[in-house]
Amino acid sequence: MTMTTDDMASFCKRKGFVYQNSEIYGGMSGFFDYGPLGAEVKNSIKQSWWRFFIHQREDCIGIDGSIISHPTVWKASGHVDCFEDIMLVCSKCKEKIRGDTHIEDELKIAADGMKVAEINQLVREHNLKCPKCKGDFEEANDFNLMFKTQVGPSQDSKATAYLRPETAQLIFTNFRLATDNMRMKLPFGIAQVGKAFRNEISPRNFLFRCREFEQMEIEYFIHPKGLNDCPFFEEVKDHEIVYYSAKMQDEKREMEKATVGKLVTDGVIKTTWHGYWLAMAHKWYVSLGAKSENFRIRQHLDTEKSHYALDTWDLEYNFPFGWKELIGMANRTDFDLSQHIKFSKKDLSLFDEETKEKIVPHVVAEPSFGVDRSFLIFMFDAYVDDKERGNIVLKLHPKLAPIKASVFPLVNKEGLPELAKKIYKELRMDFNVTYDQSGSIGRRYARSDEIGTPLCITVDFDSKEDGTVTVRDRDTTIQERVKIDDLKNIIDAKLRT
Ligand code: ATP
Repeated sequence: MTMTTDDMASFCKRKGFVYQNSEIYGGMSGFFDYGPLGAEVKNSIKQSWWRFFIHQREDCIGIDGSIISHPTVWKASGHVDCFEDIMLVCSKCKEKIRGDTHIEDELKIAADGMKVAEINQLVREHNLKCPKCKGDFEEANDFNLMFKTQVGPSQDSKATAYLRPETAQLIFTNFRLATDNMRMKLPFGIAQVGKAFRNEISPRNFLFRCREFEQMEIEYFIHPKGLNDCPFFEEVKDHEIVYYSAKMQDEKREMEKATVGKLVTDGVIKTTWHGYWLAMAHKWYVSLGAKSENFRIRQHLDTEKSHYALDTWDLEYNFPFGWKELIGMANRTDFDLSQHIKFSKKDLSLFDEETKEKIVPHVVAEPSFGVDRSFLIFMFDAYVDDKERGNIVLKLHPKLAPIKASVFPLVNKEGLPELAKKIYKELRMDFNVTYDQSGSIGRRYARSDEIGTPLCITVDFDSKEDGTVTVRDRDTTIQERVKIDDLKNIIDAKLRT
């Protein structure tokens, strides 16, 4: 039996990974809090991402922008006018649900991007009813997803501002400053990790759709004359990926597997840049233990593309509730920079030394990752109900495991707890490790397996004599006798796998 999202939510709560926000007051739909172990995993995801996409590259820099910006930012970006979902309201029980996802669930057709009239027509044609009380729907309406707030002591409309619905715009508004400070030369990327807020009509599927979430985004800027000249494409051209183009979806064909090189040569993916970033995103997930076969790339149909996008591919994951977006990757062209140039009347262009012209760079691929959805998929792919061991083993990559090692005294006497604590305190200076002396060793192994601790270190009577301990590996359960002095190197090596 496969695990459901509800099973994962209760596992996460039971073990201290994720809690419903303000649960003691009945909870708040679409808001979650990360518990002690979840906060560790989430931080590790963000740190690994930052290392992989910024520190390990010469061409990317990162910023950390604020959540509230001048409201014109969101006017220029199009969010004030266009960032809407269609809402269906039940005439009987007043339940509010998102129109396109309801149509997708009920009729099994792609409905993202459908207009109000189309949704109303499908609701009527198929006699769709409220999932809660089977009542009829009222006429559908557009609903803007931006959270509003007031800045300063005034309540008038001039003080209205928005909580950012994406991190991307801060990259565009800081584009010239960051670029000049760091002397960036095209092509280059500016990245950001941080909170985003969307007043989702029907948050659901645990962390998949929340009203407050985090994003990890890169805006990758390219010379308008080099839209297909990705110098790194060689690195990924043989990378295999399952793909589902708009054409295949229109023709109701099955998805297929191909190399990114072939997809670009055949014109399925239009630019080498888009192919490169899709492959890099897939590689990053797999490098951190996600299962390659649970991913595919899917091209947006013309009807579902955002207001700014020329072409969009999503990296999707096979969730228990179907293939869904894990990251979105739109070709935003020069839309955003041009809009901010227009609205701010500031020069955000770059000077091309060769042609002596001013140019507005394009964003051909904007990898936009969700932290919470990433957390969820790493958890799904790590979770193993090991019948032989009789317990759950959370096979998180050591880099993501909340606790890297746990130190146990074999028995609670004859100086073993003292020695174990000494080792624990020493290791704690470099790694997040724990000390556990309660219950049998088997019980302690099981407890560590369930929260994904890669290594268990047991101090026994020989340890006092010869300065060695046993190290047990979470995945193989193999135990090895090693020197106490080597423990730091062993944990370090594990984190580098
Ligand atoms: P969806 O179609 O699922 O509403 P989207 O296309 O609006 O998503 P993007 O605007 O492309 O999402 O946002 C980029 C990424 O941010 C998504 O791929 C996802 O990982 C994350 N994200 C977006 N909305 C939410 C949300 N409500 N809860 C959690 N993560 C989200």
